[in-house]
Amino acid sequence: MLKLAIHGGSPVRQTMLPYATQSIDAEDHAAIREVLDSGWLTTGPLVAAFERDLCAVTGAQYAVAVNTGTAALHAACSAAGVGSGDEVIVPAISFAASASCVLFQRATPVFADLCPDTLNIDPEDVARKVTSKTRAIVAVDFTGHPCDHDALRDVADGLPVIEDAAHALGAQYKGRPVGTLQRYTALSFHPVKHVTTGEGGAILTNDPASARHMRSFRHHGIDFDFQERGERQSWEYDINSLGYNYRIPDINCALGISQLKKSVTWLARRKELVALYTELLKDVPCVETPHVRGDCDPAWHLYVVRLNLERLCATRGEVFTALRAENIGVNVHYIPIPWMSLYANMGYKRGQWPVAEREYGRMLTLPLFPGMHNKDVEDVVVALQKVTNAYGK
Ligand SMILES: *Cc1c(COP(=O)(O)O)cnc(C)c1O
Repeated sequence: MLKLAIHGGSPVRQTMLPYATQSIDAEDHAAIREVLDSGWLTTGPLVAAFERDLCAVTGAQYAVAVNTGTAALHAACSAAGVGSGDEVIVPAISFAASASCVLFQRATPVFADLCPDTLNIDPEDVARKVTSKTRAIVAVDFTGHPCDHDALRDVADGLPVIEDAAHALGAQYKGRPVGTLQRYTALSFHPVKHVTTGEGGAILTNDPASARHMRSFRHHGIDFDFQERGERQSWEYDINSLGYNYRIPDINCALGISQLKKSVTWLARRKELVALYTELLKDVPCVETPHVRGDCDPAWHLYVVRLNLERLCATRGEVFTALRAENIGVNVHYIPIPWMSLYANMGYKRGQWPVAEREYGRMLTLPLFPGMHNKDVEDVVVALQKVTNAYGK
């Protein structure tokens, strides 16, 4: 048996393979150089152009670009009318922002459990948690696999569903693209996501009143932006609701426009890498590959496997540390949100989300990004084989 790197053996790779990273090419560089000389660094024509491109790739009628995915979720909560005293149902496992957007609006997140196959929010548990105070539902397409959006819309019974599609740009549900499945769809353009603007986000909607609200929300609640004000030759403006500075610079949008052109190719590459993982991981008995529902075509932001811990004499943490020593940048997405001290201090108690809390203990994110080579996938699998053999029962 090979000596693990953690025990002084030589690692499977000489350099660390990250779990995700951006792809930047010469076109991206040229786009940034051009915008710097264009005269508009923020709130200019490239913001609108990026929004048009987002509509074109998703089929949504309106896109409102903002400076982070978190701001996008906050804007969607505001447009959905979430406010003090309201409850918003959120999955127990997601990135923190899926729930903090509810707190920003002084409302209460109510955590729902997950479906055991997809690890997406479970519509049946949502149904149990709807009360007269429920104002909206946040549905995260975890790893890029769409939630059961029809079931969620039925359960919501008219309440707005905010689809957190930070992982899901390019995914399809029952042949329909992510972007028009729910009233609001929030995207993130953080460097690890499908396309990047450095930092950035957007909300997609088909509701013109919501789009108008969110444009004002990202700009202090002012009723129109600099460009319109310039065109009107007036200093006057009004503020009719509380807004923030969530504006995205044109510099970021220049990058986003250039990146979006490659999103279809990149998604195809992600799918090839996933197919290779599925094939090679067949021979690793301690590893369960992700489940895909027949009516979904996921966007594969993350590749999350689950360890069969009963076949190992190691914990998930030990497997994680051993793989990192082999220079495989594994990760864990995510710690249950209500386990965070912020929530514990608000009175949320562990043990209320049996699926999420059990599955969290055996989840492991393997590296996946479009710039990966087939050899990188092979390295990950070789390292997994090495580590699970060493720790096998
Ligand atoms: C990345 C992410 C966000 C927020 O994105 P930022 O752009 O980093 O603010 C929200 N929800 C989920 C599920 C994410 O993965």
